[in-house]
Amino acid sequence: MRGVAVLGSTGSIGESTLSVLARHRDSFRLVALTAGRNRERLEAQVATWAPAFAGLVEGEAAPGIRTGREVLVEAATHPDVDVVLNAVVGAAGLDATLAALRAGKRVALANKESLVMGGELVALAAREGGGELVPVDSEHSAVLQCVTGRDGGLARLILTASGGPFRDWEPARVHAATVAEALRHPTWSMGSKITVDSASLANKALELIEAHFLFGLPYDALDAVVHPQSIVHAFAEFCDGSVIAQLGFPTMELPILYALTHPARLPDSGARRFDPVAAGSLTFEPVRPDAFPAFRLGVAAGRAGGTAPAAFNAANEVAVAAFLAGGLPFGRIAEVIDAVLQQHAQGPATDLEAVRAADRAARARATTFLD
Ligand code: NAD
Ligand code: MG
Repeated sequence: MRGVAVLGSTGSIGESTLSVLARHRDSFRLVALTAGRNRERLEAQVATWAPAFAGLVEGEAAPGIRTGREVLVEAATHPDVDVVLNAVVGAAGLDATLAALRAGKRVALANKESLVMGGELVALAAREGGGELVPVDSEHSAVLQCVTGRDGGLARLILTASGGPFRDWEPARVHAATVAEALRHPTWSMGSKITVDSASLANKALELIEAHFLFGLPYDALDAVVHPQSIVHAFAEFCDGSVIAQLGFPTMELPILYALTHPARLPDSGARRFDPVAAGSLTFEPVRPDAFPAFRLGVAAGRAGGTAPAAFNAANEVAVAAFLAGGLPFGRIAEVIDAVLQQHAQGPATDLEAVRAADRAARARATTFLD
């Protein structure tokens, strides 16, 4: 029995994780739950699961539920926890990722923002504490499944992107897209921040940075391709030119389960069985950087390295929150990111205070460009 903490349990990934755990009560025990501010949902989960630890980051909660910012790290380092499923959204997930790795836990990471911000720090924390990082993101889970059990020789990765709701829109129409249009994702049902990131393709840039840190490849060996059916999740090319891909109907439950069991597998009936005829035609097209400037900016920040990815991530978080609140046109998201990155003071990302300072500075600058 492995003890599991689910951080961000009331979100899309968090709820999917609880569905997976409900099917595997012989293998996993739910030890800790945390939520941001959805008190009702958290209390309902606590009533169902009776975890040893429950925490709410913002607001008051019923007796027995801890409150405050520290609950994330407390859950992540709880002595009965072996695996921390980090499904918090945004930079708020970084401290828990670092603390869990330092405490020697496996981190099943959905919270890609923490790796984008602090990729070098995350690797260091894992080395120091003996923790292990396993991706939950479907593309990175696909890569891990393609490379596990093979003895090196990985040469290049191609991550697929659905292309989002604006895949074939003219750039001017994308610029003026509404919140409702951005939230209408063609193939995945997800939290609002990642859904907007998928519409702007900032998500795919975050994922290329994530892949760089997870698999140790340079950016020249990391590509993205638009694949509207979301059946192929990633391609892994090896040094002899052979390519292995991972496929399946879109569901996050499979990558969540694999992050818990890797490198082993558990029999599971949660994912719809694959049927190539039902999947139909699989098509691929290039990313259009002219229509999706946030993608280009994110990849450039990744290539620049240092604290640039943290600044990219912070600017994107501020701009997306403003867009979702109705105060910023969709096309301005990339413009805000661009303006922030142009003023970014580049530096190494090898200490936490430098990363936090870059994050804070980028947020402050992004706020001044919101008008
Ligand atoms: P969501 O918005 O549905 O859920 C986010 C969860 O985090 C909620 O439980 C919320 O209460 C909690 N939270 C929010 N702000 C917080 C804060 N400041 N401190 C602590 N907790 C906070 O988001 P989601 O779609 O589940 O995505 C979660 C993460 O997983 C994101 O990093 C996202 O990029 C990644 N991810 C999601 C999917 C998906 O299919 N939803 C796929 C791949 C990766
Ligand atoms: Mg993904």
